[in-house]
Order: sequence, then C-alpha cells, then structure tokens
Amino acid sequence: METEKPFDALIIGSGVGGLSIGIILARLSRRVAIIEKNPLPGGLMRGYLRSGVDCPVGVHYFGAFAEGQPLRRMFDYLGVNAAAERMGRVGPIDRYWFDDFTFDLPEGIDAFAEALTTAFPEDRRSIAVIVGNLRVIADLQNSLSFLSSTAMPFTDMDLFLPLAVYLDKLNCSVRLRSVLAVATRWMGLSEQDCPVIYHHLALTSYLLSAWRLRGGGSDLAEAFVSRFTELGGSLVCNDPAAAILTDGGAVFGVRLASGRMLRGTSVVAAVHPKAVLAMLPEGAVKPRQARRIQGMLDTEGVFAANAVLDARSHPALPHNVYRLRADREGLISDGVFYQLRSGGKGQSLLIMITRSLFSEWRRWENTATGRRGADYEGEKARRAGLMLEKAAEVFGSFAGAKIIDAYTPLTLRDWVNSPEGSPYGIMRSVRQLPLAAAIHRVALGGLFFAGQNSLAPGILGTVLGSFQAVRQMIGDDRFAPVFEELSRAAEG
Ligand SMILES: Cc1cc2nc3c(=O)[nH]c(=O)nc-3n(C[C@H](O)[C@H](O)[C@H](O)COP(=O)(O)OP(=O)(O)OC[C@H]3O[C@@H](n4cnc5c(N)ncnc54)[C@H](O)[C@@H]3O)c2cc1C
Repeated sequence: METEKPFDALIIGSGVGGLSIGIILARLSRRVAIIEKNPLPGGLMRGYLRSGVDCPVGVHYFGAFAEGQPLRRMFDYLGVNAAAERMGRVGPIDRYWFDDFTFDLPEGIDAFAEALTTAFPEDRRSIAVIVGNLRVIADLQNSLSFLSSTAMPFTDMDLFLPLAVYLDKLNCSVRLRSVLAVATRWMGLSEQDCPVIYHHLALTSYLLSAWRLRGGGSDLAEAFVSRFTELGGSLVCNDPAAAILTDGGAVFGVRLASGRMLRGTSVVAAVHPKAVLAMLPEGAVKPRQARRIQGMLDTEGVFAANAVLDARSHPALPHNVYRLRADREGLISDGVFYQLRSGGKGQSLLIMITRSLFSEWRRWENTATGRRGADYEGEKARRAGLMLEKAAEVFGSFAGAKIIDAYTPLTLRDWVNSPEGSPYGIMRSVRQLPLAAAIHRVALGGLFFAGQNSLAPGILGTVLGSFQAVRQMIGDDRFAPVFEELSRAAEG
C-alpha cells in the first residue's frame, strides 16, 4: 500500500460531484484523495478547445446562483468562484419555438405566472395550482431543507406522478402542456417519465435565476481543482480506479489501473453506480442489489455539434432557443437546444444538442475515441451538417459557418465512463425513483455515492448531492455546523 496512514476518503471521479465532495471533506480537515481516469480533471464540467474556441460539454446554463440563492451559497461554502453572467435580465432565459407558437421563459416565478396566463388565459386555474407548487418548492430550495430534515418534504402524492399524467389531471391545454414539458428535458427525461417533483425543482431553480459561464467550463474545473489542492487535497489523474478493496464487509482502499494502491477508510464513488459495481469484488453486494443496479435504465444519449459563425451576422444571443415539435396531445416528440454564444475573435459559437440513442451508434460500440474510422466521422459530419441546415431556419442563413466538432453517446461514454453515453446518468423516472434511492443502501461499510447519480443531475443537483453525501458520511450532528454556515450565507 502506498501510504502509511490511510486517507480518510478516496473519491473516485473528479467531475463537479467528486471535486465538490472533496472540497467539503478537506474543509472538514479530512485527508482526501481524488482519483480520475482522464489526464485532466473536471469530468463533464470541463470544456474542450476546437479551432481555438472553448466548447462547453456539461455546463450550458444553471440556476439558483444569485447572491443568497442555494447554488451560490454552496459555491460560497466551497470557496469556488464561478465567473458567470445572469441571463433573463433583458429578455427571456429561453425561447421555446414550436411549429405554431413561441413561448419566452422569463426570470422569476411572478413573471412566469404572468407569461403563462397571458399566453394561455383558458388555463388560469391550472396555472394557479402549478405556480402555487413552484412557490412552495422555491421556499424549500432556498432553505436547503433537503440537507436538514430527515422527513420527506413533500406530502402531496400527486407530485410523484409523471408530469404528463399530472397535467392531464389538471386539464391543461395542449400548448400549456408542451411549454411545461420542456423542463423535463433538462434532466434527460420525457414528460411521461419525469416525476412532477423533479420537474418543479428544475424549473424553480432556473426561474430563481439562470446563469451561464463567462469563460469556458475548463476555467470552472480549474477553479474547483485549485481550491481542492489549496485545502491540501491530493489529486491522482490519468489512472482509473480499477477495484475497490474490501475486507470483512468494509472498504479499505482502491487499486488503480496502474497497479498503484491507495488506502482509505472510506470510498466515495462519484461515478456511475454500474461502474462501481464493476469495481467491487464478487459477493461484496448482495446479488439482488447487484441485479437491481445492473438493470437500471439510464437517461437517453445526445448528439451535439458546434459551429463557428461570423459574429457580425450572428452575434451572441442572451437567451437559449429550443426548437421543438409537439404531437397532438402536446407531448414533445423532437427538439434541439441551441445556444449562440461568443466564440472570441469576431466569431460566435453555435451549440446544437439533440437526443440520439446509443443504438444509433452501436455499429461503433467496440471502438475508442479517435479510432472509430471514416464511416463514423462521415456519419457525424452528415448529422452535424443537417443540424446546421435546420438551425438556419431558426437563425437565418449562415454563410461561411464552419462545424468545428460533433460528439455522440460514444464520446461521452468514453470520456466519463457513463454507460451507453447517458448524459445525466440513471433515469430518475417515476418507475425508477425508489430504485435510484436504493444505491445508498448498498451494505458495504465505508462506501458512499456522490455525483449526479446520488441525488439529482445538473450542476445544482450534483453539488447538493455532495453535501447530502457528506451528511451521510459524518452524521447529522457533525454536519450541523456545515448546514449552519450554508444557512448564514442565506441570511447575510
Ligand atoms: C451534453 C450535456 C449537457 C449538459 N448541460 C447541462 C447544463 O447546461 N446545466 C447543468 O446544470 N447540467 C448540465 N449537464 C449535466 C451536468 O453536466 C452533470 O449532471 C454533472 O456535470 C455531473 O457531474 P458528475 O461529477 O456526477 O459526473 P462527471 O462529470 O461525469 O464526472 C465523473 C468523473 O469520473 C471519472 N471516472 C469515471 N470512471 C472512473 C474510474 N474508474 N476511475 C477514475 N475516474 C473515473 C470520469 O472521467 C469523470 O471525470 C449536461 C450534461 C451533458 C452530458
């Protein structure tokens, strides 16, 4: 074993989940090491450079980051400074562009209520119910009560229905249904799968305030890394965790792919639970539990393409655009997310993301990034070209536009080790909600879960999950001062 004294915690994965839990534990004077398989830390938070332009991957915009709001308070606790600009100050946060109407998502629950009532006056009653829920949830989010209470904060069982069923129950019009359904996509879910509660949590967080990074995701990743190392944390990159070492029903370390061993009294897996299962010795998890984890459905994959445009004809837009198609019942059947942001040097960067199943790329399943062959590159180029053509219908013609990159579920699978390239990890659908919670009941002493699979995806959900995981690790009493500090930040 490498060190005389074991680490207090070995964290597998250096995405926003692994880095945030690493920082919290280091702040609590724990000796912590983070293990990352890639040469660079940051996971999905880190962007990448193409033709000199920083292309984001997993951080396009995030919510609840204004002074005193939950994400900002957690970042303040972490001591991480994210250079971000607020959206929705001059115009909407998002424009939802359907075939026969558009809807602009504004900042603020009051403004949202007003925009909905103006657009759908016949839905006044249902809107009042939904907005009432959103206000309650905004209060819960602002008080971060998820981190202080043990009781389930929601007693209204309707909030655990699929959104589509709930909206039927409220007798919502077809168009209102389509507008409300968009937020389910932020977590990789459809309105038939997404529990109302997740939908409402995601929607309120963006209504509280929506932000996008001024710099690239790599700057944010570096801010996390320097804070972690400044607090004395150790970071091991370019060496995947290969096995979690156990003895007598408890963990005692991690073996890396290089053969290097690290000892630790606890292990925090901030990676996909299926990847964790593969690292555990046979028999460490009960067969029934292992089957449950193995059988979990993941969120569907995405195809994304980035293009550079002339900023004079296509300047950066302060809001996102969703081009959407809905069926006769108002269910969204197809959609593309666009963000048109500055790419520097007189260029704009157009980001285009749409759903793409792993099965569409299965032909290349057994290949690795950079070595998938001309057919694969051709298919990516073809799809990216089509996407750009479609985008021109929204933004006007793009003379001189150049596609600089495209990625598929295979890219994400290989980059962050997410099964079938699922962008948001395990599907928190109504059917899988109890199953998803069950990962925390893997009865192996000292093993904890963090990252987007532990509580909820997205930057807010993942960071909140890190605080929650620390609470599980150290117990409510020792966690109380952490919660107090988070609460003080709200008052001050
Ligand atoms: C295309 C896309 C767009 C998104 N857009 C947004 C957005 O606009 N706003 C938002 O809030 N969220 C967005 N998300 C979601 C958000 O990015 C994620 O929820 C969040 O970044 C997940 O963080 P994580 O730490 O759980 O996982 P990851 O970032 O995936 O980190 C896991 C890390 O573990 C490492 N790892 C895996 N296996 C091993 C191993 N065996 N040993 C060592 N290391 C290992 C990986 O390399 C990776 O670095 C988006 C996601 C995607 C894919």
